[in-house]
Order: sequence, then structure tokens, then C-alpha cells
Amino acid sequence: MTLLTFRFAPSPNGELHLGHAYSALLNQKLANSSGGRLLLRIEDIDTTRCTPEFEAGMIADLKWLGLDWKEPVRRQSEHFAEYETVLKRLIRQELVYPAFMSRGEIRAFIADSEKRGRDWPRDPDGVPLYPPADKALSMKERNRRIAENAPFAWRLDVGAAMARAGKDLAWAEFSDETLSTTRFVEARPQDWGDVIVARRDIPTSYHLAVVIDDALQGVSHVVRGQDLFSATGVQRLLQEILGLQPPAYFHHRLILGPDGRKLSKSLRDTGLTALRDAGASPEEIRRTVGL
Ligand code: GLU
Repeated sequence: MTLLTFRFAPSPNGELHLGHAYSALLNQKLANSSGGRLLLRIEDIDTTRCTPEFEAGMIADLKWLGLDWKEPVRRQSEHFAEYETVLKRLIRQELVYPAFMSRGEIRAFIADSEKRGRDWPRDPDGVPLYPPADKALSMKERNRRIAENAPFAWRLDVGAAMARAGKDLAWAEFSDETLSTTRFVEARPQDWGDVIVARRDIPTSYHLAVVIDDALQGVSHVVRGQDLFSATGVQRLLQEILGLQPPAYFHHRLILGPDGRKLSKSLRDTGLTALRDAGASPEEIRRTVGL
């Protein structure tokens, strides 16, 4: 039997909180109980918001918690050239296109369309889908704007990508923390519209880097928060058009704050460093998150 591989993949753009602790500890528990391995991946492609200080803080918190991962740690910012190779393939295959509309232009376009009585579709997070106008630009016009240094992002042509996949897609989702049974969930990448797969200056996005790395690192089980459940459809489509082996998924419950809301990296009182400084022990953290 092949070795099961789990990963914990935080973004160092803030401090770890109880929700991260639960995710990391659950991955560790599953890796241990299955005789598998746990990898740590630092998802720091957003070089403006991610810092080495946050990364060092995260690693210190994880060590304090008792997390034990297999080295080396993969730091995404060190692999931009690999992502760029894949991006170039998608450009060549015309599965991505340069999208030039600014946030203001998108807002104005949608307001105009809604004024004329048409509700503009929104993604599962409530964000309006990207308007189709740029997809119709000629190659000459695209090249002209790029040569003029117009800001743009590479967006997935989700319709073209789904046509390329040529079949309905689904992913295997475990039903609970014990990973005992799976069901197949229909992937609905179209619900997210033409998502960003790379920026002008950063040759990748969260979705692109995550599917490349999960495949490259041989991740067999992606165990992460429920908040990423429906975005998995986008990742499943990218895996298909890139010919990558999909892992199985478990999207776990989220640890909520006292106000019943999702924790954020700016909520100091549930931050691991703050809890440790206030005298909490790793055992107390485990108990608090129910592990
Ligand atoms: N880096 C992502 C985050 O911190 C997690 C990505 C994933 O687990 O797929 O939210």
C-alpha cells in the first residue's frame, strides 16, 4: 500500500489561531494513525502580505503545539518558476486569458447591468462573477495592452476548461474525522466564474499553486476547513486540465469564536501566541478544539 500523505498549508499573513491548531492537529492525528506522513507547506505567494516574521511565528507555534512534519518544508515563493511553466502551458492552450478590468470597472459594469433589471451572478462567497468582455478581445488587442503595461490578471476560461475536461467532474469527500467512508461530490467550478489563476507579477494564484503542489508532493489526503469546500470544484477542474492526480478531501468543521463567527488572523484572543503567553498548555489547546 502506498504511503498516505497529509499536509498542513498555512499562509504566513497573520498569526495562527485555534482554527489552524485544530486543522494542524487533525492532520497530524490522521497521519499518525494511518502510518502516513505529514508535510508542512508555507503558502506565501502573496509576497506583500506574507512575511518571514509571520512564518517564523507560525513555525514556533506549531512546534510548541507538538506538531511534527517531514522536512523539507515547501515554501511556495521559492517555486515561482515551476508555476510559471504550468501557466505558460495554460496560456498556450488558450484556457486562460488576460483580464484587464479594474475593481472599479467591474463594479460599474455590474451596476449598469443590474440597473437594466438583470441580477448579476455571484460566487458562493457572494463576490460578483467576472464580466465576459475581456474574453472577446482579439489577440492583437490583448498583446497591445500587455505591451503598454496595462494591469491585468490571468483568468481561467472556465467554459473552455470544462469543455476541455469533457466530462462531469467530482471529488471524493470523507464523511467524518475518522475518514471511514467517502462520497462523491459534484464539482461546480462554473459557480466561481473565471477565477484568477495568476497575476501579472506573480505567475500563480492560490488555486493553481495548491493543485500543483498537492500533486508534486504526492498528497493523498487534503484535510482542511469547511470554508474551502465549494472552491474544491475549481481545483478539481484545474487538476483535470493539467492531468494531475486528485487527492481525496475532508473539509472539517470550523472552530468558531465566542460570537459564533469564523476566526480570523486578527482576532488576538484566539491566537496561539496570545493563548500561550496567557499560560495555556498544548494539552489545553487540544481539549479546546476537541482533539
Ligand atoms: N493556505 C490556505 C489557508 O491558509 C489553505 C489552503 C489549503 O489547505 O488548501 O487558508
